[in-house]
Amino acid sequence: MTADVQTGAGAPKAGSFAERAHLALDDKPLRANFRRAMDGLMAKRAAQFPDAADLAALRARGAAIKERALARLPDLLEQLEARCTGNGIKVHWAETTDEANRIVLGIFREHGVKTVVKGKSMVSEEMHLNAFLGEHGIQAIESDLGEYIIQLAGEMPSHIVMPCIHKNKGQIGALFAEHIEGQRYTEDVDELTAAARRVLRDRFAEADAGISGVNFAVAETGTLVLVENEGNGRLSTTLPPLHVAVMGIEKLVETLDDIPPLLALLPRSATGQPITTYVNMITSPRREGEKDGPREVHLVLLDNGRTRVYADPELRETLRCIRCGACMNHCPVYARVGGHTYDAVYPGPIGKILTPQIAGLDAAGDLPHASSLCNACVEVCPVKIPIADILVRLRREAVRPSASNAVKGAGGGWTLSESSAWAGWKWLHANPVLYRLGSRALALAGNLIPAGLPPLKAWTSVRSKPKFAPRTLHQLARDKGFDDA
Ligand code: SF4
Repeated sequence: MTADVQTGAGAPKAGSFAERAHLALDDKPLRANFRRAMDGLMAKRAAQFPDAADLAALRARGAAIKERALARLPDLLEQLEARCTGNGIKVHWAETTDEANRIVLGIFREHGVKTVVKGKSMVSEEMHLNAFLGEHGIQAIESDLGEYIIQLAGEMPSHIVMPCIHKNKGQIGALFAEHIEGQRYTEDVDELTAAARRVLRDRFAEADAGISGVNFAVAETGTLVLVENEGNGRLSTTLPPLHVAVMGIEKLVETLDDIPPLLALLPRSATGQPITTYVNMITSPRREGEKDGPREVHLVLLDNGRTRVYADPELRETLRCIRCGACMNHCPVYARVGGHTYDAVYPGPIGKILTPQIAGLDAAGDLPHASSLCNACVEVCPVKIPIADILVRLRREAVRPSASNAVKGAGGGWTLSESSAWAGWKWLHANPVLYRLGSRALALAGNLIPAGLPPLKAWTSVRSKPKFAPRTLHQLARDKGFDDA
């Protein structure tokens, strides 16, 4: 049985976030798929945390663990390297995704690797690793079912935990019938899963190497913790003779004791499961006398802008993220437009703060605006990242007249016209006489201004034009006998 596997990360979508959102809002099946999935995930998470006080205590503990680790990040990274090296794991440092890709390619070339099985890894998506390896003659097959589906479709993940959540079983059935030899069209989920399993089992057995991500790395012991539900992560990291793990430098915790509270938060927040089916803890390659496991394990530590994020105490809180996806499951914007609208590896609320910091505000400056600041993400985040505060900060950084060094591309959204409008607004509000004259003029004639008049049109094209009250607040207050001094 063979399958036609594409190695691209999905074509980038054109236009701004707003333009892509309009297209998504018109896509009824897409909206139905997301609504159904998000409703289910929210209900499952709520069922896992019936006691608000327990949840609050656990979230505080999770946030404290990650904060403590981040406070000592440089030291802990060195400790991790020393422990891993002592355990026989080879550690590599990569400043950029290009460097990380070349390190992985170098390892594979040294071992004559031709085929690779991959466990789920968002960092490898960030690196566009599959496409890079494909360009160099190495075929990487996704082994997580969701990732396998979107690899067949040539798409990007639309969710960081459930990458193909935008597809329903009919769409997946059609995809399998098209790409998997001998597979008929069906919407039977068990049959579809069995078809993928048949293809992937052979690939596990044939693979020269396995690639995985890392959920948590323990500096104290040099342990790589990997959680998953399908067993594909365990097969990818134990069956092939070579294992390469890729990890963002922020995925670090201090001690093994930090892992249980984080495991009590991650699956319950992500999929509403009490625990994942598999919790893998990798501490070394196969040891003398052991019957399985890879002969060689490598760990690639990726920076890709994280050091810059780390340098700013407020923005650093972004790096606490444990990639549970709860923020997107609860986000009213994400639930309506879906993950591909963000045109980024990390969609939803975490993507709205992480992507502009990594890619630059000049490249992804519209993402922090794709939020109503309703705070739903902040209320569910298991490590209490103040996403709304960071969104506001990024909006401010984007329009700073002189670029700050805190965020890549800061100041890229500054325009003379917007800056002049705000300066005028400030001046008007600082002059009581002018302010009253202006507000009275609007009360008298504001409703006569055509909704289609630029620049008002930018607002009224997607919202109703505000109705001006016939009397100003000052006039109403004076009527009530308040001092108008
Ligand atoms: S920001 Fe919080 S809720 Fe969102 S993925 Fe990260 S840890 Fe989960």
